[in-house]
Amino acid sequence: MDLRTVMLMMATGSFLYAVLLVIFNYNKDNQQKVPYWTAAKFLQGAGSLMLYYRTSAYDGLTVLANAALLLGCAYEAWAVGVLTGKPVKRRLHILASIGILIICLITMFIARPYRSGLVFLVQSFFYLLPGLFLFQNSITKLSLQSLLAVCYSITGSVFLASGILCFGFPGLALSLGGDVIFSLIPGISFCVFMVSGFILLMLAKERSDRQVAEIQKSLEKSEIRFQQIVETAIEGILIFDENYRITFANEKMASILGYTVEEMIGEPYISFFPESQLDIYRQQESLRKKGQDSVYECCLRRKDGRINWFLVSATAILDEDGQFNGSFAMLTDINDRKEMELLLAESNRRLTELSNTDSLTGIANRRCFDAVLEREYFRLRRTNSKLSVILLDIDNFKEYNDYYGHVMGDECLQQIGRVLAGSVNRSVDLAARYGGEEFACILPDTDLYPAVKIAERIQQRIQALKIEHKKSIVSKYVTASFGVATVQFSPEVSLADIIAMADKLLYSAKVSGKNTIKYAEMGRHEQARLQENA
Ligand code: GH3
Ligand code: MG
Ligand code: MG
Repeated sequence: MDLRTVMLMMATGSFLYAVLLVIFNYNKDNQQKVPYWTAAKFLQGAGSLMLYYRTSAYDGLTVLANAALLLGCAYEAWAVGVLTGKPVKRRLHILASIGILIICLITMFIARPYRSGLVFLVQSFFYLLPGLFLFQNSITKLSLQSLLAVCYSITGSVFLASGILCFGFPGLALSLGGDVIFSLIPGISFCVFMVSGFILLMLAKERSDRQVAEIQKSLEKSEIRFQQIVETAIEGILIFDENYRITFANEKMASILGYTVEEMIGEPYISFFPESQLDIYRQQESLRKKGQDSVYECCLRRKDGRINWFLVSATAILDEDGQFNGSFAMLTDINDRKEMELLLAESNRRLTELSNTDSLTGIANRRCFDAVLEREYFRLRRTNSKLSVILLDIDNFKEYNDYYGHVMGDECLQQIGRVLAGSVNRSVDLAARYGGEEFACILPDTDLYPAVKIAERIQQRIQALKIEHKKSIVSKYVTASFGVATVQFSPEVSLADIIAMADKLLYSAKVSGKNTIKYAEMGRHEQARLQENA
């Protein structure tokens, strides 16, 4: 077989090989990507093709062909380096490539056997180098690696011998030139190409299998670690898919809710939420779908129907495109704490209620009256509306007490208290025991006329009670006198002024015969007078 035919076969083989490697590189399922390798094959293919087309003269095309072949050899050596775990540093491979190009240029200026000798020596280096890599790396002597190492070493040695021959015995090299060297070297190169191609592919496959196995092993390891963390966690752990169905629950979570893990898997998260918590569920779901994490409190229904409080720390799971793909939640059981909190809140509420309630009549006491009057009066500043206060005092109650006794007196006060509570209907109104046998009502946003109507209603209802009062100078039954005051907010008018006015009206009702209602609206002139007195 002549040299040109060998070169054509080498070129075709190298290009086919390079195409095969490109296909491998783009196969996502089976990536056997080895850096430098594809480039090596393209360069070798190009070099061989140029040698096929070259004329017998040592021209630019020959220099280019030599450069491509030498670079191809170097790149193949780097690829073998990677396969055997000895990757070449980027800087070194760039320097080596530049060196090769310079050497090829130099060959243009030196005589015939020497220039071939130089090329052979460089080429021998890049055949011996991968041989060395493979020998160092091969575990058994009969492995594929050692076979390939032998191939590279033989080829390297032939090139080395040829190089030395060209330099040591140029005459002999020139006389043998066309025959031995130039038929031996392409032949050997072709054999190496065939054997190394196959073995390198096998090695690449072995390497990628090994990498896959290593990844699998580390995945298994981290999965075991994850399982251990999850199962020993004192928190409940839940993982949901994009439809908010449970895809994972740890033992702890299942046991708190009284289920088995299997019973929970596949169930929609919402099915664990009691009716009262659905708003929280919806709010959290929409946050997660926007990719936002949050910490919230909620209660979930247990299998036995009871509810359990949790502090939930939830994280959205997003795919590579940032799309919602599910969520992950750590749930801390805060049932005991929550129950304590609820008990505490209830007892606080009871305490506040007690501190604001009159123990005899069960309606609001003086403290509550003062607080509500202050709140409602200062609210007028914003609303610009009016507020009315009714102050009422039972007529001749001292005599009642003296005649009927304290127990009956208390009973009478309780009945009056109930009348008051039943006569103010709006939630903002307040009926209170002001002290002794005096009662009061606060009627926010109420003008004088409707307030007087309410006072009349109370008066009628007290009369309708028909509580006998033999010692009253007004009636056979218990009666009361009323003072009704209506005010608008004014910085000059204090809370005490309002009470004083209602009290004055009440006094006026007493002096004008009792069992009557006296009323007035604090007009501008009263405010002006107050201002003057101040
Ligand atoms: P007036 O018609 O002018 O209001 O005369 P009055 O006797 O009702 O008024 P006075 O202030 O002189 O007497 C109030 C009486 O109310 C004194 C007290 O015996 C009685 N009293 C005050 N607080 C209570 C209470 O909690 N229980 C009972 N049973 N009586 C009370
Ligand atoms: Mg009194
Ligand atoms: Mg009285």
